[in-house]
Amino acid sequence: MTDNLPYAEVIGDPIAQSKSPIIHKFWLEKLGIKADYRMFHVKPEELADYIAARRKDTEWRGCNVTIPHKLAVMEHVSDPGGVRASIGAMNTIARTENGDLFGTNTDAGGFFAPIADIPLAGQDVIVIGAGGAAQAVLFALSRIEVGTVTIINRNVLKASALLARFGLQGQALEHGSALPPARLLVNASALGMKGQDELVVNLDPLPDDAIVYDLVYVPIKTKLLQKATARNLDTIDGLAMLIGQAAVAFEIFFGKPPPLEHDDKLRKLLLA
Ligand code: NAP
Repeated sequence: MTDNLPYAEVIGDPIAQSKSPIIHKFWLEKLGIKADYRMFHVKPEELADYIAARRKDTEWRGCNVTIPHKLAVMEHVSDPGGVRASIGAMNTIARTENGDLFGTNTDAGGFFAPIADIPLAGQDVIVIGAGGAAQAVLFALSRIEVGTVTIINRNVLKASALLARFGLQGQALEHGSALPPARLLVNASALGMKGQDELVVNLDPLPDDAIVYDLVYVPIKTKLLQKATARNLDTIDGLAMLIGQAAVAFEIFFGKPPPLEHDDKLRKLLLA
């Protein structure tokens, strides 16, 4: 730990698995910024005390927030961007100019970063999953005015509610339903992640120009992405969003955009 330097950190319970320190430290070093980025284990019952202590710590620039605090943290900080009513969860806390704490969510921007150059307005999209990550994805999709959105989820009622919440036209289907044709398929569920069941899905209904985007990044080459590659479809892996959401947070904490030209080296570090 480096004392008396400005620092940011990531909090969660558990926290040891977080890749955020690797990403932020890499960028700090590349830019020559004298600051630190740490991980800090915070249990749910410790969250209020943690926020109170960091509020007084003038070296603290803010934190990334991971499971299980993304909802609870909203009780402790201001919400100038209306994140509570839109995405419904915060993953980044930082200071306003007057030193007060505010929360935001960089997952939607992180999801959007690798598809920013693809013209998706009016195009049909499938989203698998209806949890926290799916909410950030749906928020981003609602902003770029995609066409019909099909949400496939184990809990289909939750999926229907999200369509209404984000003002999206589409349908909610149960897991195992045949896919409709779509330009973009996003896996925002936990399926395919190490330790979870595989995502069983038949990609045949997708057109040849479809893009398959898996938010899961452990493993990096999921079975879903392997299937998409076997069909010659374009793929985007979960590290793209992980790096994208960290980039938005880095600029909030340290006041400079990260040097994304080193992404290939960063990806190697993250996969090591
Ligand atoms: P979450 O809020 O817990 O949601 C999990 C989702 O997966 C829910 O839709 C849940 O369905 C579904 N699910 C879980 N187990 C299932 C099973 N056995 N069968 C069918 N559906 C199942 O988690 P999250 O935060 O949204 O994260 C989801 C995934 O996105 C994780 O793999 C996470 O690592 C990844 N992620 C990646 C990034 C990135 O930067 N790349 C960022 C955030 C999340 P129900 O609604 O029916 O329970």
